[in-house]
Amino acid sequence: MKCPICHNTEGIKENKQWSFNAYRVTRYTCTRCGANFNYYSGERGDYTIPKPKEMK
Ligand SMILES: [Zn+2]
Repeated sequence: MKCPICHNTEGIKENKQWSFNAYRVTRYTCTRCGANFNYYSGERGDYTIPKPKEMK
């Protein structure tokens, strides 16, 4: 798992999981920048809210 805010890949903490329509949603917290984000996993693909920022 990767933080969409700071692109950190270590220390991502899983908080809880639930179902949303056809998706399984997992709530994560980044222990580096403190951001919370949701990871959606389903038949139509996976995505993260908020969307990852472009790396420059
Ligand atoms: Zn972060």
